[in-house]
Parts: sequence; C-alpha cells; structure tokens
Amino acid sequence: MEMEKLVSLCKRRGFMFQSSEIYGGLNGFWDYGPLGTELKRNVKDAWWRDMVSGHDDSSVPAAAPDAYEMTGLDCTIIMHPQVWKCSGHYDLFHDQMVDCRESKRRYRYDQIRGRWVEAKGERIFVTTVAETDREEEDTLSRALKYFNLRSKNADQLQWDGKFITLPDIDDLSRALGPDARTPGSLTEPREFNLMFKTTVGALGGEEDVAFLRPETAQGIFVNFRNVLDSTRVKIPFGIAQIGKSFRNEITPRNFTFRSREFEQMEIEFFCDPKSSNRWYQYWRDRRMRWYVDLGLAGDRLRLREHDPEELSHYSTGTADIEYAFPFLPPGDFGELEGIAHRGDFDLRSHMEGKLDENTCPLELEKGPDGKPKWKGSGRDLTYRDDATGERYTPHVIEPSAGADRATLAFLCEAYTEDEAPDEKGEMKPRTLMKFHPRLAPIKAAVFPLVKKDRMPDIAKDIYRTLKPHFAVFYDEKGAVGRRYRRQDEVGTPYCITVDGQTLEDNTVTIRDRDTLEQWRVKADACLEELRKKMS
Ligand code: ATP
Repeated sequence: MEMEKLVSLCKRRGFMFQSSEIYGGLNGFWDYGPLGTELKRNVKDAWWRDMVSGHDDSSVPAAAPDAYEMTGLDCTIIMHPQVWKCSGHYDLFHDQMVDCRESKRRYRYDQIRGRWVEAKGERIFVTTVAETDREEEDTLSRALKYFNLRSKNADQLQWDGKFITLPDIDDLSRALGPDARTPGSLTEPREFNLMFKTTVGALGGEEDVAFLRPETAQGIFVNFRNVLDSTRVKIPFGIAQIGKSFRNEITPRNFTFRSREFEQMEIEFFCDPKSSNRWYQYWRDRRMRWYVDLGLAGDRLRLREHDPEELSHYSTGTADIEYAFPFLPPGDFGELEGIAHRGDFDLRSHMEGKLDENTCPLELEKGPDGKPKWKGSGRDLTYRDDATGERYTPHVIEPSAGADRATLAFLCEAYTEDEAPDEKGEMKPRTLMKFHPRLAPIKAAVFPLVKKDRMPDIAKDIYRTLKPHFAVFYDEKGAVGRRYRRQDEVGTPYCITVDGQTLEDNTVTIRDRDTLEQWRVKADACLEELRKKMS
C-alpha cells in the first residue's frame, strides 16, 4: 500500500488533520477528525476494557502465573520536577542531534540517512530526510546537482553501498547535510533533552521550571503508596493509565508515528521479585495477543526480544511489539509497544533518590555539603506480604503502548483495495478499511433505498433503535451504491437498507463490508442481528 493513499483518505474522510493547519501546521502535532476521534477512542476503550475494567480479578487468565488485580489512575501531565530527576529523565533522556552550520537546521543524528557516492574524483556522503520510499530519487537529484551533472549523465555517479545513517560513518566532514550545498557543514553530535520545559506560577524563575511528562509511567510509581493505602489491592496487581505524553522529538516524521504530543497506554505491574520473570513472559505474550485479536495478524506484526546489549541498565528483559509500517523501508519494523522487566529500579529511585551506582551511569549533582542534591521522596515504597510477613521492594513489568501508533497500525492494516459490483453489476475498484468491528468508528449505516414510500421513516426508526447501543449513521443522499462505497471507505462493517420488499414483509437487507454478502432480517431484529455479529 502506498502511504500517500492512506494519508489522503485520512484527510478526505476526517480521520486525521495536521494541527493548526490553517496557519500552515505545526510539525509533529496532529489532530484527529470526527472519524479518527472515534477510532482512537475505540482503541483506547478496547485496551482499557481488555486490560483493566473487564479483567476478572478472581480467576487466573490463561498462561498467567497467578490471579491478579488491575486498577486505574489518571495523573497530571506536570509533576514535581524531582520526579524526573529520580526517574533519570532529567539526566538521561536525550537524543543526539547535529546542527547544520549552512542551513541552520537541526537533525537527529541517528535519523539522517544517506549513501556514499563518487564522481569527478570526489567522494561524498549525500544525505536526505526524504521519506524512505523517496530517498533514492532525492539523493540522486542532490548528487547530480552537487557534481553539476545532467540526469542523462547519472551513470558517472558511482554509488557505494546501501543507505546507512550518520552514526555509521566515521567522517562527518564528507557528509553533505540534507539541506546544505557543500559537505562538512554538520556539527559533531550533541545531546538534546527531549522533555518540554515550562514554568509554573507567575514569577517564572529557574526554580519554577517544570516539565511536561515524557511518559505516563512516573505518575503511577509516585502514587504506588496511595493506591496501596486507599484500596485493598495485594501483589500481584497492575495499575493502568492512559494519557498524553510529550517529547520534543528532533525530527518528528512518518505521520503520527513520531509526534511531539501523543497518547500512551501504560501498565505498571507490581509483583514479587521471585516470580517477576514469569510475569514478564506473561505480559509479553498477553500484549502480543491483544494486537492479533484486533486484526494485526500476519507477518507485518512481530515480537522482538532485545539483545542483552540493547537492554537499559536496569532491565533484565525487554521485548518490543513491532509493525512493518508501509512508510518504512522493506523489511524494517517500527515499535508499537515495549514490554520491559524494570526490576525494582523505579520504586527504589523514588524512595532513595539514589540510582544504583553499579548499574546506573547517572552522576547526581552534589550540594555544598558533598551530598547528592536531589534526594528521593524518603517514603517507604516497599511492600509487606501479609501471608508470609516478608517485606520487599516489588519488581515491575511495564507494558508501554502508544495509542497513536496503535491507531496508525490499525489504519495501515485496514487499508484495502479490491473490486466490487456497482449498481449495474459491473466490477469496479473500491477502497475499504477492514477495521475489526470493535474498532470501526461506525458500526452500521442505515439507508432507505429511495426517498419515498415511507422508506426514510422506517429507516429512521431503525436508526433510532440502534443509536443508543451502537455508533450508527443514517444516510439518504445519492445513489445507494455510492452510499455503500462511502461506508466501505471508512470501514463500516454493516449497511442496513430499507427497500421495496420492506414495505411488503417488513424485512431489510444487511450487507457485509468484506464479503459483500447480503441477507434479510426482520426490521425489528436489526439490533439483535448486529449484537450477534459484533460479539
Ligand atoms: P522510539 O524508540 O520509537 O522513540 P521509545 O522506545 O522511546 O520509542 P518508549 O519510551 O518505550 O518509546 O514509549 C512507549 C511507547 O510510546 C512506544 O512504544 C510508542 O508506541 C509510544 N511513543 C513513544 N514516543 C512516541 C512519539 N514520539 N510519537 C508517538 N508515539 C510514541
């Protein structure tokens, strides 16, 4: 599938718009349109229902080591700055960036891709920030321009090797920056903290600096004691949160895949260190199954265990659930969700403020007395097992998903082109979005075949009966074939049509989006029929 087709469908049918579009947009920020809002809400609702509210605390799910409880939280976006000091984000949450002295632009070091090319006795590394499906033509035209060659002399360019990223080359002085005319304009990489800064209160001094959260997880850790004290949860249990997070990504790109404002769906699952490895396995597989059940099957979805050298300093296991997004080069996958075994790192950091010197490279600032300036909360975040009397700092398994990335993957997976008969029975190309019925923004559309003979009244009655239970849509405008196609294009699984026969025997047709199969049911049985189909 070509990404442009999906992007244009998303705009045309109201799934997604560029933020502040009438002012030229703002890079890295996206708005969801009427249908996109429903779709993303359905993704979040499915997650919350499957992981939290619909979870049965009293039984042991398949493959789980034990029964467990799930509960939710909704924390603020701005938190005490010390949270980020103790979590490590203040000192460690950065990307490497390079500046271009010539174009004055800034890029993420590991995201600039390019190729070595030689002509007229000079060898340069020509780079581009074009989307991967266009990088070939973009680097070609840049190389031709640089060497002052015409397209017909493109064979004078000697390309050497495949596309690689800046960190893969040793000599930045030979790199032609993505917007530069001469090589060597890129600076050496520097670190750039990804947290957005703001000030709290009217004074606005350095001591009032605060940050927009770069992840929702920390709100859960700092409320761990509150949840224990206000509910009767016992380990093992999980706390879930859905909410906005912000990262000042250096090069936001690929539609909503890398945005600066996005939504996360995170679980912190607290367990006994003795069984944490088994819980890690459980969550990894449980989360993978969730995507499969909602339609991301096949070889475009994969679960990838990190190699030991890829692991964060505190983690004993991390796996990513990845999807082969169509905007990535063939064979590449993008992260949808990370499932990490975080040990007791987070709770201990918030207790002691001191990250383990043996495993963590963090140097804490020292005060005049030589002691670390940033202390932990000093609160007791350990857990006492009532049954055994044992006290320990719980281990944490963290399945951390992005709601926007999941929504984008469901959109990519749903996009389908096939052929279907038009009114005259001729096969015509059609575009359809094969959303899982749970995710479809509209579950059913109701049409009168024509605007006469009581058909609109009967159709409206059906619409009103269904509306309290399902997101349904009423449409009487234009030829019915076109109305079907409009619904196919936004992924409505069922269309219900009131026609001439309805006036005789009170039955209507129901049409299936994917199979195009049509069958008749009694008009007053539509709700029941949809329920049966959707379950
Ligand atoms: P990446 O390596 O792609 O930047 P990450 O490993 O930093 O991602 P995490 O910190 O593990 O991501 O965040 C958990 C999830 O949040 C990711 O799997 C992703 O779905 C989502 N996410 C992270 N950054 C962004 C972003 N800039 N835009 C949209 N979603 C994001």
